[in-house]
Amino acid sequence: MTDLLETIAELTHLRNRHELERAFAAVVFRLAEASELILWRVGRRSGEAKLRAQVSLPPLGAEVLLLQPVAECRSCLESATPVRSRIGSLAARHVYPIHDGSRVAGLLELVRPEPFTRLEEHMIASLIKVYGNHAGLLDYGERDELTGLLNRRSFSTLFHQASIRRCGVIGVADIDFFKRINDEFGHPYGDEVLILMARLMEQTLEDSDGVFRFGGEEFVVLLGGANPDDAWRMLNDFRAIVHATTFPQVGRVTISIGLSSFSPNDTGASAFGRADEALYVAKQRGRNQVQCHEWLVKDGSLADAKKANSVVELF
Ligand code: GH3
Ligand code: MG
Ligand code: MG
Repeated sequence: MTDLLETIAELTHLRNRHELERAFAAVVFRLAEASELILWRVGRRSGEAKLRAQVSLPPLGAEVLLLQPVAECRSCLESATPVRSRIGSLAARHVYPIHDGSRVAGLLELVRPEPFTRLEEHMIASLIKVYGNHAGLLDYGERDELTGLLNRRSFSTLFHQASIRRCGVIGVADIDFFKRINDEFGHPYGDEVLILMARLMEQTLEDSDGVFRFGGEEFVVLLGGANPDDAWRMLNDFRAIVHATTFPQVGRVTISIGLSSFSPNDTGASAFGRADEALYVAKQRGRNQVQCHEWLVKDGSLADAKKANSVVELF
């Protein structure tokens, strides 16, 4: 019992979500005498849940991100109750839902020898509750307070995960002449525009790997697996929707977007930097448009834009 309390004290002391996941997995692995363990996170896009493995024991390294959930995980997610299935005569797979308030925010999958004693079962259930509550609290730290979008801090972690999994596209979007909105209508109306913009972005880019508010009136979207042509179309659709939307009081608002593809060799900063260069060209060419870094490099206009920029900076 003292052991369990100490474990809980140690877990709730952790402030980093990834460290917490690893520590929780290690504790349960030991207590349950499991032979395999996978901790899944549930992501949601327009109601559809996606499962992503965060930790596996024995450790798989970065390969953990490529794991696909077994059928029991799906049923656990749907029923929001524990699911158990036998593996031969000596072991069983247990999948437990991890609740964060009213939602299932994660799953704990264990393979362990049969049977569980009532005390063990109770201990695991209590640990899962404590973990779910604490992880839920930490999640608040990953979100931007005004818009509820993911914040800049969570970008590097999610970018790392998306880029390990596959190549894709990053988009950087910046509201045009936002300062004028604040100046003309006042800061609270500017805030309303930011909130509505965030909702439009989430709805239009619902299949993305993450929509972030980077600060001020700048947003970032990660489109894992997308190629520049598809991404340009998606982002241009978003731009057109913004253009067609009447914002309460403020009226017409436009947005400029730069995009760039990324590969597993990229860091968040390198990929962001290229998309930001394309955004700069979009602003220079009249705003309310989407520009792609790779296309600009190909036709030589990015070098021209940079030259023009450095001349401006010289004076
Ligand atoms: P551009 O088309 O070149 O992007 O021009 P801009 O006016 O949008 O860009 P600029 O960087 O000059 O202005 C951004 C403004 O965003 C300035 C700042 O006061 C405002 N801002 C930053 N964060 C917030 C916020 O949380 N709420 C509101 N209302 N305004 C914000
Ligand atoms: Mg702006
Ligand atoms: Mg800006």
